[in-house]
Amino acid sequence: MATPAGRADVNHAWRLASRPQGRAMESNFEWVETRVPEIREGQILVRVVYLSLDPTNRVWMEPMDTYMPMLQIGAVMRGGTLGVVEMSRNPGFVPGDFVQGLGGWQEFYAGDATGWRKLQRVPAVPLTAYFGAMAHIGFTAYFGVLDIAKPRPGETFVVSAAAGAVGSIAGQIAKIAGCRVVGIAGSDEKCSWITRDLGFDAAINYKKENLRDALNRECPNGIDIDFENVGGGILDAVLERINIGARVVICGLISQYNATGPVPGPSNFSSVLLKRARVQGFIVLDYAPRFPEAAAQIVQWLTEKRLKYRIDMVAGLRSAPSALNKLFDGTNTGKLLVKVSEEPA
Ligand code: NDP
Repeated sequence: MATPAGRADVNHAWRLASRPQGRAMESNFEWVETRVPEIREGQILVRVVYLSLDPTNRVWMEPMDTYMPMLQIGAVMRGGTLGVVEMSRNPGFVPGDFVQGLGGWQEFYAGDATGWRKLQRVPAVPLTAYFGAMAHIGFTAYFGVLDIAKPRPGETFVVSAAAGAVGSIAGQIAKIAGCRVVGIAGSDEKCSWITRDLGFDAAINYKKENLRDALNRECPNGIDIDFENVGGGILDAVLERINIGARVVICGLISQYNATGPVPGPSNFSSVLLKRARVQGFIVLDYAPRFPEAAAQIVQWLTEKRLKYRIDMVAGLRSAPSALNKLFDGTNTGKLLVKVSEEPA
């Protein structure tokens, strides 16, 4: 098949070169240049526009299977991407389609269309919203809050990493459900964003004040729902204040992803017994058949301006390895994306 005029035929990619000890470093990746391959029957060629950087990227670098097969040394680093179909030999896609899938840390994805979703664009919704408020971010918040936590009006809902991508959406959905929402975040700026702009009832800067004291102050009626993104000491402090029948939604445990040895369990686990609480973990991919339901609701909230998100955009694929650590030092402000190429006009 002829290469269309004007299409780049060189692909740059980051491959996994070694397993990190602690935080990932640029030396754990290798920058490679290859030719964009021809696609075969059933395949698509996608130009990546945005690459999503996620805490789970670090987990995928470990020498173990997770909810996905272990990433092999030498493989293109796995990553969620949003892009434009440039060529298609798959009847489900045509050039110009906007698509989301695991394209990896590279400029072009050429391969099977399995797992790729075509975006139903809504004119008022920018392309970045398909990561900022939907896909594995917004859908995680949507199902974690509505399907697992099942909030009731008047309940107290606490969320950690509250100004982050998932946490900020989860807190807003809990507000829509009528909860008192208390966010835990790592800077005054983040705390002021979630209370002033997103309408959270209270915010706690866990780096500045004693978390237990602050939870006592901001959750006078105890905690009915914990949307847990962090784990460790934050989970311990929250467990101390849960109510009878509380739901503890284990969405993520980011404080453990760079651990180099065994991590201690929660020291207040007895609260789960004493308060007859339910602790439930989940992986958003399990909800794939219901993604259209979540997308439709989130698009409606976005257009009604009841849901807000922010994007932390990093320029250029080369920056991906260093930018990943923004998630772990808390310097990302919103959904962390890498701009790999320009959006089509
Ligand atoms: P965020 O945009 O929330 O960025 C991560 C944030 O975590 C940082 O900004 C920082 O915020 C906080 N953080 C990092 N390290 C620590 C630490 N040691 N202690 C306390 N806070 C810390 O990322 P995402 O929204 O993408 O992810 C949030 C969570 O959701 C993660 O745990 C992730 O694994 C999980 N997740 C789970 C999914 C699922 O299917 N279950 C799907 C997608 C995400 P701060 O400045 O406030 O400290």
